[in-house]
Amino acid sequence: MISLQHLKSGALLVVILLFLGATMYNRNYKKVNKKFLVTLHITQDQSGVLAVDAARLAEIRTAIADASDFFTPIGISFEVGDVYYIDNYQYDVISTEEELTEMSGKYDKENRLNLYLFSMFDEEMAGGCGLAGQVTDANKNLFMSQACVNPVSFAHEMGHFFGLLHTFNPDDFNTTELVDGSNCDTDGDQICDTPADPYIPGSATGWVRDCAFIYEGQDANGDYYDPDIENIMSYYFESCACGLHFSPGQFKKMSETYFSAIDPLATNPVCVW
Ligand SMILES: [Zn+2]
Repeated sequence: MISLQHLKSGALLVVILLFLGATMYNRNYKKVNKKFLVTLHITQDQSGVLAVDAARLAEIRTAIADASDFFTPIGISFEVGDVYYIDNYQYDVISTEEELTEMSGKYDKENRLNLYLFSMFDEEMAGGCGLAGQVTDANKNLFMSQACVNPVSFAHEMGHFFGLLHTFNPDDFNTTELVDGSNCDTDGDQICDTPADPYIPGSATGWVRDCAFIYEGQDANGDYYDPDIENIMSYYFESCACGLHFSPGQFKKMSETYFSAIDPLATNPVCVW
């Protein structure tokens, strides 16, 4: 019979081992340990109606703060800082990426994480949800259709900001990443702990049902795909909202991207917000 004392020490040992494991893993990447203040820029339409009213702004503040939970292992959190209103209705409905660049040029606040919120992308932009520049880019801003902002979509855009690709990368045709992982560092999202993902945006194929991956396509070796359908950088998260996460490899990539961007020796250094 196992005594209570044995159970206690056994449990303690498990806790210590888990702690050691977690500590050792963390040594694979440097934690960012930073709160990012998000500067909002809100558009208005021709009649002066704001894309984001006071009630919606309160929801967006909460959504952005709540997105921090996905970044806990890397020590990143978010909070809405200053809010500015754009007195120019031409940016309320976005038709081209050039408009986004133009808007950035006019309204960006330096050394801030600028998030532009507008009514919508029109059909020429495929009615999209959001676009994000990388922290290492000249235009490192976030642009989102205001209705899209929720903790998961904001976390997804911040994933791009910190250098992550979609798990189904490249986005416009079938991935050639192999299920066996043999080309995982050069294909797909180039991160090896996110399995090959055959998703094609806009495809009518049924991919997920009841939180299970049901697509029966195979890779070049004839292996069946088994992507991480709860990964924030996939496009399955809308059909399966449980257990959403970034992978340890994705945290490592985000850390590397961030620290390369603030390296004063980098070609395009950015200030620390
Ligand atoms: Zn994306």
